[in-house]
Formats: sequence, C-alpha cells, structure tokens
Amino acid sequence: MKVKFCGAASTVTGSCHYVDTGHVKILVDCGGFQGGHDLEKMNYEKFPFDPAEIDYLFLTHAHFDHVGRIPKLVKEGFRGKIICTAPTRDLARIVLEDAAHIQEEDYKHYISKVKDKRIPRHVRERAPEEGMQYALHEPLYTADDVRLAMDLFETYEYASSVELSEYIEFRMRDAGHILGSAIFELWVHNKVGRLRKLVFSGDLGQPGQRIVRDPDLIREADYVWVESTYGDRLHPTKDETVLEFLSILKKAQEKNGKILIPSFAIERTQEILYELNAFYEGGLLDDLEIYLDSPMARAATEVFVRYPRFYDEDAQRLLAKGDDPFVFPTLHFTHDVDESKRLVNRKGIAIIAGSGMATGGRIVDHLRNHLEQKETTVVFVGYQVRGTLGRRLLDGEKQVKIRGRELQVNADIKSISGFSAHGDQRDLRYWLRAFGNSPRKVFVVHGEKDVAHGFAENIRKELRLDAVVPEMFDEVEIE
Ligand SMILES: [Zn+2]
Repeated sequence: MKVKFCGAASTVTGSCHYVDTGHVKILVDCGGFQGGHDLEKMNYEKFPFDPAEIDYLFLTHAHFDHVGRIPKLVKEGFRGKIICTAPTRDLARIVLEDAAHIQEEDYKHYISKVKDKRIPRHVRERAPEEGMQYALHEPLYTADDVRLAMDLFETYEYASSVELSEYIEFRMRDAGHILGSAIFELWVHNKVGRLRKLVFSGDLGQPGQRIVRDPDLIREADYVWVESTYGDRLHPTKDETVLEFLSILKKAQEKNGKILIPSFAIERTQEILYELNAFYEGGLLDDLEIYLDSPMARAATEVFVRYPRFYDEDAQRLLAKGDDPFVFPTLHFTHDVDESKRLVNRKGIAIIAGSGMATGGRIVDHLRNHLEQKETTVVFVGYQVRGTLGRRLLDGEKQVKIRGRELQVNADIKSISGFSAHGDQRDLRYWLRAFGNSPRKVFVVHGEKDVAHGFAENIRKELRLDAVVPEMFDEVEIE
C-alpha cells in the first residue's frame, strides 16, 4: 500500500492524506492551506496525484483546512464519493461558499487596483494587503464549482460500519472537535489480500468541550494518522478558562470601549455564545450587549440548531429545559454591512466576528477602526497560525497595516487558550494509549514542525510506539 502526505505534513493546515491500496485510491480530507502567502500559494499548485483516479474522499470535518480544496479537486476531475456526517456536509457548504465568495471579491478588488492608474505603480504591484489572501491569483474556484462538489456528498451516521466494496469498509466515530467531526476507521485489503486497519484522527476535540461530545476512543489499528496541533502544551481547565473569559469581559466593559472577539464561525462562535448565555442566565453578565456580526457564523449556528442529536448530554439537557443557548436578550445579530458599519460609534459593546485569525472578514474592519484606541480590548479565543494578523497581534507587534492604513496598536490584546477545540498533549496521548501496542506505525501530522517532532518523541518514549513525522509530499510504502 502506498500512502502520500499531500498536506498538513510538518505544518498545521492543508490536510490531505492519500492512500493507494492497490485496489482503491482514497483521500482523507482535502483542505486548504492558510497562514501567510508562502503557504497559501500551495493551494494553487497541482495535486500530487490524479484527482480523476480517486474513488473516495473521506471528510473528517468541515473546517477550511480540511475541506478548502474540494471544489478544486472536482474541477480537476474528481468524480468519486465524498463521505462524511450530515452536519459536516451542511457546514462544508457554508465554508466553501464563503471561500469562493472571498476569493472572487478579493480578486475583483485587486484587479480594480491594478487597473487604477492614479495609484503609483510601485504601490499597485506591491504584495497584497492584510485580509487579501487570494488577491494575487484568480479565484481557485467559484460558487458554481462549489455546487458541483456538493452533488458528490454522501452522509452516514457515526458508529455504523459501511462496506463500500469488497476492498474497503469504513466507520465514523465522534472526534468531539466540532459538530459532526469524525475519526475514520478504514479496513482495507493490501496487495497480498491481508486486511489492514487505518485510523485517521482528523482533529481531536478537547474532552469536556461545550456542545460536542468527548472524542471516541479506538482500541485497535495497524496504522494511525494523529493530529498534533497542541502536542507541546497543556490547556488550562475548562473552569479556569470560563472564569478568565468572564473576568476579561468585565474588565473590558469597565473601560467602556469596544470588545472585539475574532472568532471562527463554526463551533468556536457557538461555544462562546453558549458561555455568554450561561453568564446571562446566571446574572453574571447581563448588561453587556453582544453583536454577532458574521453572516457565516449565523448560518453555521442554524446548522447547529438543526442537529441537536449531535450535542453532548449537557447541551441536550439545556435544550430540554427550554433554554436555547443561542437565544438570549442581550444577543443581537447584524443583518447587513450597513448595520455592521453602524456599530462603529457604539461604546461598551462586544462584537463577535470572523475570521478567527483576522485574515479577512468583518473583524478586520473592526480592528482597523479600533486597534489604536486604548479602551479597546481584543480577545482571541482560538489558535492563531503563524503569519496571520491574529498571530502578529498576539506576538505583540505594535505597528500593523490593515487595508492600506498604518496603525499603532494601543488596544489591550488578550488571548484565552482553553477554548481550544483541540485536545492538548495529555488528551492526545490518552487517545493514542487506547490503541495499546497494536499500531505498527503512527504518523504524526497537523502540527507545526517542531511541535510535531516533540510530540512524536514524546509518544515514542511514553507509549513505545513507532511514531514518525512525515514531510510534505513524502511517500511511504506500508505493508
Ligand atoms: Zn479543525
């Protein structure tokens, strides 16, 4: 059997794992690269396989870095089946439509600038600005390509094994990362007819996370692909995280400035709303007006509302009591750009908007308008990839340029790591321990290079498993 690492190898984004069993060719995830131009450029490169030859694409979940290149795959000839859970399909549609839209808009903006002869040439030809990630290229795909891709989706439930052909059987288990996220167990026949079990962790959630359940443990595998985003650190406990969030909000509220929360539209936003609803219901923070200024997060929240059977017990109990975590009196939704713009003069309010790493979206405008004011508090509630505006602010850069304006950063920049939708080092090791000594090899993927190597070393020592960190486009023969 041949496996190839076509993304998220010694890096965090662009997840795409290729397996040629001799009988069938499969992909697990087909994500986009994010985090700086060098990485994003890779979205435009040719796939290191022929898309037309792929039989199945298994999707672990709907985040852009796991689904972002699907329409490109279809454009280049893929006509196989795309297999995932129902929430993953619905969320993937939102993510891909959004990506197509941003690319088309950014490109239009870039072209209009290039043609504007009033702008000096050296400015026109300069690298794209913050928040213009695709500008130098034609869109990777359009809304029409997304529609074609959506026709290939087939959804299944967790825990039921499905025989796709005499050569391949799969089962999805709950990865506890975002709504509908799955770990894939695949049973395939190798060239000499022996049955081998491959397990792909996808992104593994943090036990105790709101709304979603804890990740399922898998007892056996011959080969494991495991993520390592937080393979080098431990998260604070959930209680500490929630208290820290509350105290940051209360302090920020006293300054009577803006509270800006860059948030991923999917899962993180809903978890934040879940906590804010609890603060409201508990009378802990019932006078802070909150604006969800993200059409994408709104659409994603609607998907959450459609699939309560994917919630964990706590969230289901809340619903049964009649307390909808996504509805409370201080929560407001903006309906259009004008409404979003009108928020500029409102003091002492909180705005939740995307994108989560401030690489685009309405949060970039809010940051542009408010980063210079010291009354402003920016609260990052998610992982910030190297090279993104979010990461640069977190790293303490005092001068940034956003959409043509040089800004002095005077705002208070805060970060809460405990909301992570990824397990930490201990959670990942706990998950791996369930395999006992069954794996012949563990491929450590989906982590910054140094983190992935550190984590591989850790599991070699602690779990005595043969763990390796593949490089991008490495090809490995497995038995
Ligand atoms: Zn993810």
